[in-house]
Amino acid sequence: MDSINYNLTGTVFDIQRFSLHDGPGIRTIVFLKGCPLSCQWCSNPESQSVKPVVMYKRDDCLHCGRCITACKRGAISPQNKTWIDRGGCSGCGECVNACPGGALVLKGRIMTVQQVICELKKDATTYRRSGGGITLSGGEPLMQYEFASELLQACKGQGWNTAIETTGIGSAEAVERVIPYVDTVLLDIKHTDRDIHKMYTGGTNELVLKNAPRISQISSTVVRVPVIPGFNYSVEAIRRIAEYAKTLTGVRTIHLLPYHSFGENKYGLMGKEYQLTHIKPLHPEDLEECKAAVESCGLQCIIGG
Ligand code: SF4
Ligand code: SF4
Repeated sequence: MDSINYNLTGTVFDIQRFSLHDGPGIRTIVFLKGCPLSCQWCSNPESQSVKPVVMYKRDDCLHCGRCITACKRGAISPQNKTWIDRGGCSGCGECVNACPGGALVLKGRIMTVQQVICELKKDATTYRRSGGGITLSGGEPLMQYEFASELLQACKGQGWNTAIETTGIGSAEAVERVIPYVDTVLLDIKHTDRDIHKMYTGGTNELVLKNAPRISQISSTVVRVPVIPGFNYSVEAIRRIAEYAKTLTGVRTIHLLPYHSFGENKYGLMGKEYQLTHIKPLHPEDLEECKAAVESCGLQCIIGG
């Protein structure tokens, strides 16, 4: 293992402790900012831009105007339909510091590898006892691949189990720098059709399909499929993903994740519109036929996961 740069910084938007998902045992999830996709069902839209983002809770606003004075860029005005002009906002956080009502929340903070490791150490005993560890999520962790690589190496140095949730979209260099330090990869494969993928996620699946064989060669890989009505909620679409997954070394299992709308309220807080309001959440029993299609390809299938 190379010497680790503990002073390297990355942009983290959340650290969630005591997760029972996203890898074995009890885990801490570190969410990194930045994603090349903007999936219509994304439950973490605050993760998509690399820079920090301000959420505005209108119901908590006292209309005192302190944020307007604090913003040197003039990005806040009552004339703005969504209060903050997102194009003019740099994510500096001055308005958040000035707000007495708690109506503004900054998502994204610059942290060093050392600072993240200090946070993670709080649960080191839990990792050891439960066989758990840490999971990098996002956003897309491969977008901050240098930071992700150093952080994962530092975690391995502590003897912790490591996992990463990824869209698989990243440069060849990003894959080679990150994946060797990961015990389990949770790889999203959303659709095998290039154009449908682009229509609903904002990007094509070319890099996913290019990187998946390499990723699954280096690390134990679980394929995850968010199942979304109108996008890939059909036995045929799921079968095609399973047939592709079957060709990947080291993939034995597919997780089918029923559509939910947990992140919907965040869109309003960011001045964005949620596009899937017409879709009802799926229940695990709705995916039984899709599960059978995966199993008929010789792979294990877990609904949820
Ligand atoms: S984060 Fe900074 S630039 Fe953005 S609205 Fe607040 S003060 Fe202005
Ligand atoms: S500082 Fe906070 S409470 Fe005051 S107007 Fe701005 S968002 Fe509202």
